[in-house]
Amino acid sequence: MTDWHEEGLYPDVRTRYKIDKVLYESSTEHQKMRLLVHPRLGKILTLDDVTQTTEKDEFIYHEMMTHVPILAHGAARRVLIIGGGDGGILEEVLKHPGVEKATMVEIDAGVVEFSKLYLSEICKGAFEDPRTDLVIADGFAFMADSPEKYDVIIVDSTDPEGPGEILFTREFYRHSKERLTPGGVMVTQNGVPFMQAEELRTSATHLRNYFADVSCYLATIPTYVGGAMAMGWATDNAALRKVAVETLEARFKPLNLNSRYYTPEVHKAAFALPPYVGELLL
Ligand code: SAM
Repeated sequence: MTDWHEEGLYPDVRTRYKIDKVLYESSTEHQKMRLLVHPRLGKILTLDDVTQTTEKDEFIYHEMMTHVPILAHGAARRVLIIGGGDGGILEEVLKHPGVEKATMVEIDAGVVEFSKLYLSEICKGAFEDPRTDLVIADGFAFMADSPEKYDVIIVDSTDPEGPGEILFTREFYRHSKERLTPGGVMVTQNGVPFMQAEELRTSATHLRNYFADVSCYLATIPTYVGGAMAMGWATDNAALRKVAVETLEARFKPLNLNSRYYTPEVHKAAFALPPYVGELLL
């Protein structure tokens, strides 16, 4: 009898994935973790039955959540990742030799240990990199209490349910402003606007209390159901969103990233928002 995983993010839209194998299933104090094997997507990590990342399409989200802010900034030395338990964001951040320290604040040690064991295709050696500073803590508390500042902040959280909910609050964004160096930029996992419009609208409203330039950019991740996904953008340096493609190219080329989604042209185009998304930011 064929086994199926049913995506649990939406009450009224269910997508199902044929499962060849359940590699791992357990619960931590924070969430239920499953690692499934799909004939086309490879390994699928779910938390509380919501797809987090898959072996075959993870490159899209992880490349766009990292190279866009880091190459727009141009001189990021210290990067803060909130969430990111699978290590995919961390792995991409560490491809930038200019990054001297990557601090990753993940609430669930179980996701990190599990990803090191079962998702090495995604995290590779990122957790062992000498520049990695792994902190097991609630991202909200860290953002509020840390005395540190960062050039780029990447909020790679689950959706605004369970432990991730607090990472979409006005208070969290207020503290994130305190953690950014002048001219720094924060990007956030901000859902699929066609399905989660209010999430993006609310985040943008909260962020505008603290940042001069609030927008988002888009990328389509096949397993984030409902069309293009929004990556929230918040900074006081409006020029960061307008960096010329030639400048991005000059920063990108020497890295030899061999990226499979990110290019400077894709970077620029990602900020061209269709009206149904743009209107959520007004
Ligand atoms: N790319 C995925 C997405 O777009 O939904 C997110 C991947 S990553 C697995 C999400 C991580 O956020 C998980 O490891 C989860 O444990 C972590 N997380 C959730 N709430 C958190 C919090 N309050 N503080 C720190 N990490 C949190």
